[in-house]
Amino acid sequence: MRVYNTMTRKKDEFVPVNAGKINMYACGPTVYNYFHIGNARPFLFFDVVRRYFTYLGYDVTYVQNITDIDDKIIEQANQEGSSFEDIAKRYTQAFFDDLKLLNINPADYNPKATEYIQQMIELIDILVKKGNAYEANGDVYFAVESIPTYGKLSGKNLEDLQAGARVEANTQKKNPADFTLWKKAKEGEPKWDSPWGEGRPGWHTECVVMSRKMLGQTFDIHGGGVDLVFPHHENELAQAYALDGRPLANYWMHNGFLNIDGNKMSKSLNNFFTTRDIMKKYDPEVIRFFFLSKHYRSPIDFNEDIIIESKKALANFYSVFKEVDILNLELDSIDKSAFISTVEAFKEAMDDDFNTAKALASLFDLAKEAKAKKNSIEVRQAAAVTLLELGKVLGFFSNLEKTLETSVDQHAEKLIELLISYRLDAKKEKNYALSDKIRKDLLELGIELQDTPQGTIWKIKD
Ligand SMILES: [Zn+2]
Repeated sequence: MRVYNTMTRKKDEFVPVNAGKINMYACGPTVYNYFHIGNARPFLFFDVVRRYFTYLGYDVTYVQNITDIDDKIIEQANQEGSSFEDIAKRYTQAFFDDLKLLNINPADYNPKATEYIQQMIELIDILVKKGNAYEANGDVYFAVESIPTYGKLSGKNLEDLQAGARVEANTQKKNPADFTLWKKAKEGEPKWDSPWGEGRPGWHTECVVMSRKMLGQTFDIHGGGVDLVFPHHENELAQAYALDGRPLANYWMHNGFLNIDGNKMSKSLNNFFTTRDIMKKYDPEVIRFFFLSKHYRSPIDFNEDIIIESKKALANFYSVFKEVDILNLELDSIDKSAFISTVEAFKEAMDDDFNTAKALASLFDLAKEAKAKKNSIEVRQAAAVTLLELGKVLGFFSNLEKTLETSVDQHAEKLIELLISYRLDAKKEKNYALSDKIRKDLLELGIELQDTPQGTIWKIKD
């Protein structure tokens, strides 16, 4: 198996620290709001990484932190006139609720930053005593020059960083590129006692403490979005090196950005969507398919066309299951040997740096074989059951019974599309009575229409 390692900038042969065991850590949410659709990508991708290792027979321990103290949480609390604890609690719950909808299994451990403040203070204290960090007026900074390899993960060199950081003009710092480990409390902010006065630890220390505590000094995989490479992961790594000269993790994996209709997602462009909003419009399984249809390191563009393609692909899989009446098959007694090579192709794709886009091609092949009239019913059943098994490795088909119950066949789908086109005609002729009637009558049949800038979409009402 080969994994692209941000540290070496190439696909490295994957060798776990302990044979048969995977220790992985992915940076979790800062709980001040519902997570946006861009953040759904790492959550979903690392869920698939974990599922695949488990499928291969590894014993996986997955840790994902919850950042429950942060400037953004404090800001949100002030805006709402509530406490930071209330905000964190509310959005932590929302995080887990949304993961569940996306069929993302929660990590084995979800440590919260506020539960490890004491351990963070101890770590910072060690760094100060070792000369890697220094205090200035109640703040503590990490001295980047104390680590000769600083910048290696992100490929940045210290001089450029110094020049860039000078703009900030923080005169307390010995080097403009030094980063904060401990933040002195401002008036009215949450605070904890420390050897340097009241304040709170920085985000970069949080992940070092919690990952090492649960996974050991050097674990296998540290993951997150590509936006976390610098400064967050570079700064985590620097602290770990300073502590014991060992890397925090052996493999650093980062997923690419998400764009919306070709643009970067931003509040100012009015294209900032929470995953929760998107899930109101599209089936979460369609969202999963959308993300996995591209290699995780490539940028991905969220647009209506790709979503419709994803929806079609999934509908095709479900029609396969319907055709072979999979719910009434004795799954264990099906001889799947005809598709061993397809399973191998799937594994080969996944072993090559989790190439889910290529792995999905094996699922399409199976769907085709399951539908091919030239094949015997036994072969078609075997293809469908193999499709089910491999799909589950990627986190699909978790609710097969219910989905099959509510799914519509391709003829019905065409009829719905036809009615939608009649409704559009009616609207063009300003016959709103008719267009409303079509919408209402469909709703009564359990089919909900939604008008979007890209056209009308429909879904089966929950
Ligand atoms: Zn982190």
